[in-house]
Amino acid sequence: MLIRNFFFLIFFLPFSFLKAQEITSVKCTNQLAPVLFGARKDTISSRGMADNYKTWEPGMTLLIKFMPGGSRFLRNQVIVHSREWEKFANIRFKFVPDNTPFTHIRIKLGEGLGHNSAVGTDALQKEQKDQTMNFDTLGFIDGDYYLAKIKERGIKPPFTFDHLKEELKRGPVRWQLKEIRRVVIHEFGHALGLLHEQSYPEAIKWKKTDSIYQYYMKTQGWTKQQVDFNVFEVNNIFYSNGYEYDPKSIMHYAVHPWETEDGFSVKTNYELSEGDKKIIAALYPKQPSLLSRIVPKIQVTGVGNLSVYYDTQRDGLLIVPSLAIKTNQRLGEVYFVARVANPEGFFYLTDTELFNWGGTLATYMKIPVFPNTTRIFNQNKDNPFYLFLPLYLFPQLYGKEVRITFEVFMNDVMNNHLNKLVFQSATNRLSLPARSY
Ligand SMILES: [Zn+2]
Repeated sequence: MLIRNFFFLIFFLPFSFLKAQEITSVKCTNQLAPVLFGARKDTISSRGMADNYKTWEPGMTLLIKFMPGGSRFLRNQVIVHSREWEKFANIRFKFVPDNTPFTHIRIKLGEGLGHNSAVGTDALQKEQKDQTMNFDTLGFIDGDYYLAKIKERGIKPPFTFDHLKEELKRGPVRWQLKEIRRVVIHEFGHALGLLHEQSYPEAIKWKKTDSIYQYYMKTQGWTKQQVDFNVFEVNNIFYSNGYEYDPKSIMHYAVHPWETEDGFSVKTNYELSEGDKKIIAALYPKQPSLLSRIVPKIQVTGVGNLSVYYDTQRDGLLIVPSLAIKTNQRLGEVYFVARVANPEGFFYLTDTELFNWGGTLATYMKIPVFPNTTRIFNQNKDNPFYLFLPLYLFPQLYGKEVRITFEVFMNDVMNNHLNKLVFQSATNRLSLPARSY
């Protein structure tokens, strides 16, 4: 009765010091990736070169702050290099004090979380106490320099983190400034809605051999599934926004010739390409009326508790989300979906005709929405809203420990992009009542 692990977490090891030369190739992952691993049968890929459904409104000022930590030097590096996008996109980055209560983007300069960012407006799904972007400062140090220093001291391999830490204590840190700039620009590209350029359809003929999986396991700590998602994922041509494949894009991973069938390779790109400048200007035009492609967008805001009640009269669960949804000028279909997962995060399957969302046991509802409006659910006492799941139809659930997920999906019917995941949350473990009669 199990399907794919829904709460799959990417654990992103920054690098092994044994491979100090690999520091320059620390890959980044998008924070929503774990969510998308739980792809349903009836879904399409949500990744692309630019996810039009997740771009901010042109002309917006994004409020950005740093989470505790990070030296003044590194913070300044982030601020300075992020500005590269502002030259070409009609968007403003406003860096605000650390104690600012509401921000769109929150940056953590830390160790061990890798480099990654939420994609565009996905950042709004994160709680204000959590960061939306991580920079791994260990990935910014000059690894070759320190490796040479350690060798000079006559230390023999294997080299460990402790050797590195000893060396770092001896003086001011030697940073790789070029790498810092590259990574900052790349992650801010994600924050504006851009995705990995190597996912352009048919751009790269990957050689999917064991050695390639082993390479990413060794250098990034990625499982096969993570490699398939982060590296090999191919996007729908829709997301290219009409632009040609751009191997010079800052959003492209470096590709070694041995990784491809035809020996094709891409060197690490350190600066915005002409293609990057063009696509970001098209997504954030100086005159918003010039936006070339307007797609329906849903923003979920004001998220409160996800509550679940047992209705003894009707012998079923009332699932009560608290949120607001904001639409733009283009209409899409919006679905609220609540599903049942076991404590490990696997969904229950069903083959019933009703209460079936792509083969998983669910209760869902199509929510009527109008353009350019905000609709509020359960943020005051009037008009309570809930989804109902009749337990008596699913006796296998009685007495079980479960987690209930609540998701918002959107269909862009006009462009035939269905089941775009807009929002997702889940309860902690809860015990369902035993059958009571
Ligand atoms: Zn990336």
